[in-house]
Amino acid sequence: MNPDPYAILGVDRDADADALKKAYRKLARQYHPDVNSDPGAQEKFKEVSAAYEILSDPEKRRVYDLGGDPFGGGAGGFGQGAGFSFTDIMDAFFGGQQGASRGPRSRMRRGQDALVRLDLELAEAAFGVTRELKVDTAVVCTTCDGSGAAEGSRPVTCETCHGRGEVQHVQRSFLGEIRTLRPCAACRGYGEIIPDPCRDCAGDGRVRSRRALTVKIPGGVDTGTRVQLTGEGEVGPGGGPSGDLYVEVQVLPHKTYTREGLNLHCTVPVPMTAAALGTSITLPLLEADLDTEEISVEREVPIDIRPGTQSGTQQVLRGRGVPSLRSQARGDVVVTIEVETPTKLDERQEELLRELASLRNEENPEGRALPAHKGLFGRMKDAFNQK
Ligand SMILES: [Zn+2]
Ligand SMILES: [Zn+2]
Repeated sequence: MNPDPYAILGVDRDADADALKKAYRKLARQYHPDVNSDPGAQEKFKEVSAAYEILSDPEKRRVYDLGGDPFGGGAGGFGQGAGFSFTDIMDAFFGGQQGASRGPRSRMRRGQDALVRLDLELAEAAFGVTRELKVDTAVVCTTCDGSGAAEGSRPVTCETCHGRGEVQHVQRSFLGEIRTLRPCAACRGYGEIIPDPCRDCAGDGRVRSRRALTVKIPGGVDTGTRVQLTGEGEVGPGGGPSGDLYVEVQVLPHKTYTREGLNLHCTVPVPMTAAALGTSITLPLLEADLDTEEISVEREVPIDIRPGTQSGTQQVLRGRGVPSLRSQARGDVVVTIEVETPTKLDERQEELLRELASLRNEENPEGRALPAHKGLFGRMKDAFNQK
């Protein structure tokens, strides 16, 4: 009926607690779902755990040896792994490695990465910019050169752990006595204590400082882009190597353009009369924002408004958008024409418009709906699709 727990663990019937524990740990490590993705592994792991639960408990083992049901026939039958908590399993993984000493840890460690945010104008983000940043990070304490000890003093060996940096911790659990090595609390694992810490850094070996840094931001960055500056982050404790500094870009709204990926969108209002008669307007490109004397940079382009231009008409200026951060590609500028209906007409203007309406038989327009593709949205779609 029940599988044989001795066979599952692969131990003799007279195996003692140590042999059981060893066999269980070996199998648990092999079949634990975190390390073994094989579909059968989880089942096997449960089976192994349940077998161990029986044999490690003298009472249950006795019941099993006598041919009874070690779980009393009630809930939590064989194979459920009942009574095993996550902590027990973790102990089996990590607690049992007696004597796996790591020794004192070094006071010197790598510093943390730091993050600063940088607001950029749209043109700066698109074409790149060099900026000076003020950053607040930990730097090496010059008073003690990062050692943390006051002048004329030196660190001494910790008396609690005798310089080992760790102490043995004995814990009783159902798995038996588990000995683990824990970092020494007296010296926080360093193995030595600074009896006379440096006044300027309180023994940390570093102090906070504000410094200026020149950052070159490449063209094509967008909100959320992080530029990594290797080794410009926080210096590590005990004079350890510095972490990296990340500059996170935030692009400010532009007065004309809205950015969508590499494309720039803008809306140009045109008076109704100009839209009807046709005209040419001048559109400032994003380059107009550049602070450069270079004459080869084109800052504006003429936009031809053909006679009879409708509101919502779009013109696409290929390759005038944002340069790509990763390639030579450049997005487009998409111009949407918005025809403005005149308001605040004086007497003469109204008279002229009425005359025009009369000439065009538009005094009483019939309210008819356009076919779907000829409406404003249909035209916008067409403008996007046409190459
Ligand atoms: Zn110091
Ligand atoms: Zn210690």
